[in-house]
Amino acid sequence: MAFELPDLPYEYDALEPHIDEQTMRIHHDKHHAGYTRKLNNALEGHDDLQQHSIEELLAGIDTLPADVRTPVRQNGGGFYNHRLFWDTMSPDGGGEPNGDLGDAIEDQFGSFEAFQDEFKSAATGQFGSGWGWLVAHPSGALSVTSTPNQDNPLMEEDTPILGVDVWEHAYYLNYQNERGTYVDEWWNVVDWDAVGDNFEHIVAA
Ligand code: MN
Repeated sequence: MAFELPDLPYEYDALEPHIDEQTMRIHHDKHHAGYTRKLNNALEGHDDLQQHSIEELLAGIDTLPADVRTPVRQNGGGFYNHRLFWDTMSPDGGGEPNGDLGDAIEDQFGSFEAFQDEFKSAATGQFGSGWGWLVAHPSGALSVTSTPNQDNPLMEEDTPILGVDVWEHAYYLNYQNERGTYVDEWWNVVDWDAVGDNFEHIVAA
C-alpha cells in the first residue's frame, strides 16, 4: 500500500498574490511528489512498515530499522509536512482564529499578535531549511517551535496543527532572501478553520 501524493485542495494560482502559481506548481508537483516517491522507495520490501500510517512511522522514527530510518525521516517527514501545509492554507484564509483555538491562543500567548510574533521569530530564526510550527497538546496547551530539514514535532511525541515551510523552495521565486516578508504574507492564506479542526481533534482525542 503506497503513499499517494494528495492533490492540492485548490488551484495552483489560488493563493496569489501571497504565494505565486509557479512556486506552488514546483513545490507540489516536484518537491512534494519527490518526497512521496522516495518514501515509497524506502519502504519497498518492508511490508510490515507499509501497514502503518505516516503519523505512526514518524512518531516511531527512532525504532525503525537502521536502513530505512533516515530516508523515512527525510521523505516521510516531507510527505507529511507538505500535506499539512496545503491543508492549512486557503484562498479564503487569513484573519484570526475564533472558537476554542482562538481562546487557547489568547490564554497561551496573551494575544493573537503576540502569538504571531513568537511564531514568526521561530520560523525566521530557523537556521537553514526547516519549518515553523504551532503544536497542540492534549491538555489544550499550545507551543511554538521550529525544526530543521523535514523533521517535525511528531518525532518528539508532539502534534503540529499548523506549519510554515521555510525552505527557500517555498518562497525564493517571489521573495528571494526575504523570509520574513514571506511569513508576513503567508498569514493571509492561513486557514484558521482547518487549524481549529486540527486543534479540536487533538484535544478531543
Ligand atoms: Mn517544501
